[in-house]
Amino acid sequence: MQHIKNLLADMNNKNIKDQLLLLEIYRTLVEKEAFLKTNQLFIKNRILYIEVNNPVLANQLHYKKNIFLKAIIQKYPNIKEIRIIVGTKPDEKQPAEDEHKCRKCGSKLLAKSSRLCSLCICREEERVKQRVRKALLKTPWIQFEEIKATETINPISKRLFMDEKRYEISQLYDIISQCYREIKINKNEKNKSIFIEKVKKYIILKLSVRPEKITSEMVKNHLPSRIHKVYCECE
Ligand SMILES: [Zn+2]
Repeated sequence: MQHIKNLLADMNNKNIKDQLLLLEIYRTLVEKEAFLKTNQLFIKNRILYIEVNNPVLANQLHYKKNIFLKAIIQKYPNIKEIRIIVGTKPDEKQPAEDEHKCRKCGSKLLAKSSRLCSLCICREEERVKQRVRKALLKTPWIQFEEIKATETINPISKRLFMDEKRYEISQLYDIISQCYREIKINKNEKNKSIFIEKVKKYIILKLSVRPEKITSEMVKNHLPSRIHKVYCECE
């Protein structure tokens, strides 16, 4: 229980009782193993920092932050946020082989320079992609700078964002072309409303404009003339 001694040594200035209460609440919230791997808890600028000695644990605790916060603000209403940080005490240097393990799942790394194993990298990227797709579905006019600003944990790269956007645009273009053929060649009237809707979405995505800002000029400039002609007839 070295960490508790450290904690007590650090806080002999004031309110030890208060700090012990914090520790006690924390102890009831985590498993014994996690408790033992916690170096210290401290509050700074209304943020409660939980410092643990290993990244895998930090990641596990990260997903429980909201549960912790709910329990802790009952006694510490001033705390507005919880942050999990990783710190290694000099006397607890991990064995060299740990340095070549994936920080997320702990599996052995083949490339010793990377932080995560290839499977975890794929999973992370897939998660980010899903978020980009959702955002593009909900607000197709969103721009990279805007979506980037909403992300704090897993940063979105511009390349990934543009790839997703290009993919969505190409999918839409396929649907537009299909509808065009149905309307023009097969005289299928049922596709008109879908056609109009997809053309609008295509323009929104392509130019990052909000629906109310679409002009007939934009539509004209960004559609092949044969498709534009049908669009004008449908509207
Ligand atoms: Zn992994």
